[in-house]
Order: sequence, then structure tokens, then C-alpha cells
Amino acid sequence: LQLTLAIIKPHIIKNPTSLKGIQNVILKSSFKVVRSKRKPISLEEAQYFYEEHKHKFFYNRLVTFMTSGASDLYILAKENAIKDWRSLMGPTKVYRSQFEAPDTIRGKYGLSDTRNATHGSDSPETARREIGVFFPEFDYD
Ligand code: ATP
Ligand code: MG
Repeated sequence: LQLTLAIIKPHIIKNPTSLKGIQNVILKSSFKVVRSKRKPISLEEAQYFYEEHKHKFFYNRLVTFMTSGASDLYILAKENAIKDWRSLMGPTKVYRSQFEAPDTIRGKYGLSDTRNATHGSDSPETARREIGVFFPEFDYD
């Protein structure tokens, strides 16, 4: 069984209808929710979490947005969890998700390239690192 870290980003937590929609996608999927919590991501956590994007033009915007309110954090498990959660999310960029993948989470709920509704780990190594950031007490092995 593979694990992935999923985040429902702050603009969705502030919108009950969108939040319900995304929670339903998770409930109706075959993912097992291993852990979940709602919390405001701290500046330190966001900076560490998005370290790989430090030199990109959108980094400040991204960190500011991700610390602008509470997020829902999930450890999800299933076979091929990483790939399958990313395909439920759809493309990162809003013009692609809305036009090419309107039925995905980002196609339905993404507002911009930054406010694209959800996060998903992109490899087993990043999943382990990301789960450690938000669930430090979780025993991975
Ligand atoms: P995530 O890591 O959130 O699952 P991803 O792997 O599809 O998404 P990354 O390239 O890792 O995308 O970017 C991380 C996050 O940075 C994106 O989810 C988005 O919020 C933001 N981002 C990425 N590209 C842009 C961009 N061109 N303009 C603004 N924000 C962006
Ligand atoms: Mg990524």
C-alpha cells in the first residue's frame, strides 16, 4: 500500500460547498484516510514544505496563500496512491485543468495557478518527507 500527503488548500476551507465537493471525491474514492487534521500551516512549515520552489517567481505568493488560513491535511493510502490522487486532482495550471480536465478537482475548484484547490505528493520520497512535516508523530515504517 502506498501513502501520499493530500492538502485541501485555504480558499476551499473557506467555501463549504467546494469543501463538501472535494471531501466527497475522497470519500467516494477507494482511498483509505489514514490520518487527517485541520490546521493553519505556519510560515516555517510552508517555507520548508515548498523549499524546492524557493527561487521561482510564484514562491512568495504561494507561501502567503498557503498560510492565509486553515488547510485540511490527509495521509491517504491505496495502491498507486500518489499517481491516483494526482490524476483525481488534474493539472496544476488552471487554464489546463479547466479546459482539458473539467471533471478533475482542480478543473472544478481551481481558481488560479496558485489557488489550485489541492496538493498531492509527487513521489514516494516526497510523500515521506511531506508526511513528516505535518504528521511528525506518524510512524512511517
Ligand atoms: P502540488 O505540489 O501542489 O501537488 P504540482 O506538483 O502540480 O502541485 P508544483 O510544480 O509542485 O505543482 O507547484 C507547487 C504549487 O505551486 C502548485 O500546487 C501551485 O499552488 C503553485 N504553482 C505552481 N506553478 C505555479 C505558477 N506558474 N504560478 C503560480 N503558482 C504556481
Ligand atoms: Mg509538486
